[in-house]
Amino acid sequence: MSERDVFDMVIVGGGLSGAALALALRDMAWRVAVVEPNPPRAPGDAWDARVYAYSPGNVVWLQALGAWNATVRSQPVYAMRIAGDDGGHLAFDALDAGLSELAFIAESNRLHWSLWQGLRAAGNIESIEAETAGVAWGDGEHELILADGRRLQAGLLVGADGAHSWLRAQANIGLTIEDYQHVGVVANFETERPHRGIAYQWFRPDGVLAYLPLPGNRISIVWSTTPEQAEALKALPPDEFTSRVAEAGRHSLGRLQLVTPPQGFPLKRRRAEAWVRPGLVLIGDAAHTVHPLAGQGINLGFRDVRLLAESLRDAQLAPGDLGRLQAYALRRDEDVSSVQFVTGSLKKLFASEEPLLRWLRNTGMTLTDGQAWLKQALMRHAIQ
Ligand SMILES: Cc1cc2nc3c(=O)[nH]c(=O)nc-3n(C[C@H](O)[C@H](O)[C@H](O)COP(=O)(O)OP(=O)(O)OC[C@H]3O[C@@H](n4cnc5c(N)ncnc54)[C@H](O)[C@@H]3O)c2cc1C
Repeated sequence: MSERDVFDMVIVGGGLSGAALALALRDMAWRVAVVEPNPPRAPGDAWDARVYAYSPGNVVWLQALGAWNATVRSQPVYAMRIAGDDGGHLAFDALDAGLSELAFIAESNRLHWSLWQGLRAAGNIESIEAETAGVAWGDGEHELILADGRRLQAGLLVGADGAHSWLRAQANIGLTIEDYQHVGVVANFETERPHRGIAYQWFRPDGVLAYLPLPGNRISIVWSTTPEQAEALKALPPDEFTSRVAEAGRHSLGRLQLVTPPQGFPLKRRRAEAWVRPGLVLIGDAAHTVHPLAGQGINLGFRDVRLLAESLRDAQLAPGDLGRLQAYALRRDEDVSSVQFVTGSLKKLFASEEPLLRWLRNTGMTLTDGQAWLKQALMRHAIQ
């Protein structure tokens, strides 16, 4: 093995979570490798169908990393309007909580590219475009074997390889999965009327529809619905699909024009049975996935990265120090559990056709709307 192949840490997967972790470690003395078979390509002008809501706390952190820059086309969200399926309503306004915004909406591909630009420029990070083939777990040092035969040695392997994590499977870490029986249909539109930085969400008998504001008169939608309805929506001619989205959104923004064709993503709640093993730690979707109705998936991933990077800064300890990694896992598990519980409960509450539950959920929503302190508490958690 050549000396170049010895690292302090190897990150398997260079999606948003893995790339952000590498970048957060850029000024450290450690040598870090990011192994990714499909690095991002330079984005063109076309709008990416993958659009996410990012919390202000994560955006401030990404700004400090230099990744949230002019490359990222983002729209602040100043207010959110939520409607139940039987008259319930709930409104959040940033100003009411003394905030300048509730979230930022931006395309995934541009942020991904920007993170990679940063990590490619860092002297201590090596990006390796390769498929993985195996792992040899050792006593303190471990080897990642690549499909081209190269072997990368490191004290810590990081699983950032997404919901179907290969590395998690290599470590024999089980997974609890709950199928939400929903597919998220995403698409982008131009709107007739300005959105004024307001995000909308409608809880409907067939699922949840969200309008997320994009720069200009544009929105991205996520319509989480049954697999059958998702298939039917995707099969509609563009004009008909557009009318269905406008109608389901109560024509709030006037006429819509389709910008990117609909794509569907099956939605499952996943939770790794362990976040840590000797020589291994999981981050992002490799550790957890959640229903997108609260827009928290990558926000949880970035919060994993923030905590892990911060705790790894204690240079007295080796990267793979188990006590430190276990402390990370314990703290992150709390945040993930509460987000999974709240989103899962909301999804279930609104899935029921029971008339009493329908009345309760709509009344509960409107009652919550009258409780300023409760709304402020909810907003404070969401902005982290
Ligand atoms: C419809 C929908 C809407 C969403 N909306 C939001 C939102 O509004 N806000 C939000 O916070 N989140 C949202 N999410 C969640 C968000 O998409 C994910 O949480 C996020 O993309 C996960 O990033 P990641 O880097 O952890 O994993 P991934 O994006 O899956 O990246 C994993 C990377 O690992 C690589 N890889 C895979 N296998 C290997 C291997 N063997 N070796 C090396 N590399 C490998 C892959 O190529 C990939 O680049 C949404 C999700 C869906 C489905």
